[in-house]
Amino acid sequence: MGPMREDGPWGSPHVRPPEKRPVGRSLARGFAGRCPECGKGHIFQGYLKVRDACEACGHDLDQYPSDDGPAYFTILIIGHLVVAPLLVLSFIWKASLWIVVPGTVIPLAVITLLALPRIKGAVIGMLYAMRIVREDGMLHSADRAD
Ligand SMILES: [Zn+2]
Repeated sequence: MGPMREDGPWGSPHVRPPEKRPVGRSLARGFAGRCPECGKGHIFQGYLKVRDACEACGHDLDQYPSDDGPAYFTILIIGHLVVAPLLVLSFIWKASLWIVVPGTVIPLAVITLLALPRIKGAVIGMLYAMRIVREDGMLHSADRAD
């Protein structure tokens, strides 16, 4: 985590004009699980746990309120791209439940588990590009000297 200045006033000379944060680059880096700021460090430690700060550039990664967004987008995307097309296939309605249920639920679970960290990373990249941070993170990032 970068140095946090609790005492800096809003007009602090340390506040610099905001750097550019291209949406596409931020999304792509997040999708790849990389820090949206530098593209080198990792967003996650473990499967879905967001690091406090990037290990490469020190960017505060924990300030982005990804919360339920990634789960929501994952359900939305999987539902539209996988489940809906699946329901059109006639074998789903004709084959035995003993084949259809494991044959769809297991791949769906695998796809969802693979997609979730990528989508969460992309959501964090999006929040980064749009400069959406947690309420309590807003003061810190405005005052940050690094
Ligand atoms: Zn970084």
